Amino acid sequence: MTDFSLNLNEDQLTLQKWVHDFAEDVVRPAGEEWDEKEEFPFPIVQQAAEIGLYSWEFMAEMMMNDPTGLSMPVAIEELFWGDAGIGMAIMGSGLAAAGIAASATPEQVMEWVPQCYGDAQKLQLGAFAASEPDAGSDVGGYRTSAKYDEATDEWVLNGTKAWITNGGIADIHVVVAVVDPELRSKGHASFVVPPGTKGLSQGQKYKKHGIRASHTAEVVLDDVRVPGRCLLGGKEKLDERLARVRRGEKGNAQAAMQTFEATRPAVGAQALGIARAAFEYSLEYAKQREAFGKPIIMNQGIAFMLADMATEIEATRGMIHRAAWLGKQKAFVNAEGSMAKMKAGRVATWVTERAIQILGGYGYTREYPVERWHRDAKIHDIFEGTEQIQQLVISRAISGMRIE
Ligand SMILES: Cc1cc2nc3c(=O)[nH]c(=O)nc-3n(C[C@H](O)[C@H](O)[C@H](O)COP(=O)(O)OP(=O)(O)OC[C@H]3O[C@@H](n4cnc5c(N)ncnc54)[C@H](O)[C@@H]3O)c2cc1C
Repeated sequence: MTDFSLNLNEDQLTLQKWVHDFAEDVVRPAGEEWDEKEEFPFPIVQQAAEIGLYSWEFMAEMMMNDPTGLSMPVAIEELFWGDAGIGMAIMGSGLAAAGIAASATPEQVMEWVPQCYGDAQKLQLGAFAASEPDAGSDVGGYRTSAKYDEATDEWVLNGTKAWITNGGIADIHVVVAVVDPELRSKGHASFVVPPGTKGLSQGQKYKKHGIRASHTAEVVLDDVRVPGRCLLGGKEKLDERLARVRRGEKGNAQAAMQTFEATRPAVGAQALGIARAAFEYSLEYAKQREAFGKPIIMNQGIAFMLADMATEIEATRGMIHRAAWLGKQKAFVNAEGSMAKMKAGRVATWVTERAIQILGGYGYTREYPVERWHRDAKIHDIFEGTEQIQQLVISRAISGMRIE
């Protein structure tokens, strides 16, 4: 087991600076424009691909060659410090990659994960489609079905997925579907829908409160036929797993939940990046802005607010880094991944709201970035498990009881 340390190693310090420079030079200056456009920022993602930040090799390096687990949250904090909507556009394909990695065979990982990114010559996107219009938190309520056609060795998918990042514009869609409705969440399997497959289309594109540069849409699956090899993990493993569940034996956690649990500290790091951006901005503003003949920071009312913001950010980073490390060692004790994600979402929402307060009237206008950061922060209380679902996971972990 690697020891836990908050000290970043040389490689991590280099990584931090590299991502920070890109965030400062390219991402931050583009944030407002793409928020207003509410469109996927292809030119910015293209630039990220050109430097290797948007690439499957980068993700693989982060996930596989870092025994500390800290590289991923360090990189994400810097990227989201630049801008969360663009950050999400760059990181969104990672959800699909993680969804593949959670259940696929090594051969399937090598076939499909690179296709979630493409390369700088031909950018590709991935989407992970689990949530449905009538079932977000309640994963046992999914209705999208997958039926096996033995004659052709194909799976036929039907249903509608809701709020899918990169939904409909992705090249690779990873779809969680029900193969045995009686088993509820234990009767799910994940499928890759390859590029250009007939029957998959984009439904409504959502107009959102924040992270508006990230594309979020419904995905409609109408008799989508995918070859047998697109079932992640393969049919033999699925049949064995379903048989075990039917016999009442304890199986692995459901496919969707595995993906979410593995990514929670990283999602917390997104929120942390936004919080830090808002804190730094409002600190500088408070030193410059004068009222009653002195900088507003000279009032304890403002300085103490900033002191609390700095403290919450430090505490959150500590939790995220420890949770990322625990995740890497497979040593979670009390759902620390969920704790870190929940704390980060709350802190980012609170810090960005305080930043608006510090900027006063200017803070409330779109002339200054803090209102955008506040809108961007809120999603972290909702996606990848809402605040209440994190509380459910944590309360079950600390009590050992099936809290409802
Ligand atoms: C911008 C954006 C991007 C997204 N990207 C993706 C994506 O790429 N892929 C994907 O699959 N999904 C994605 N989602 C969906 C997201 O994960 C869901 O919205 C989220 O899980 C919540 O589900 P829901 O919206 O159905 O809310 P609901 O589950 O209906 O919850 C509504 C409210 O009830 C509370 N609640 C529900 N159950 C309980 C309970 N048992 N106890 C206490 N309170 C409860 C919730 O906390 C929430 O406050 C995205 C959503 C958004 C907004």
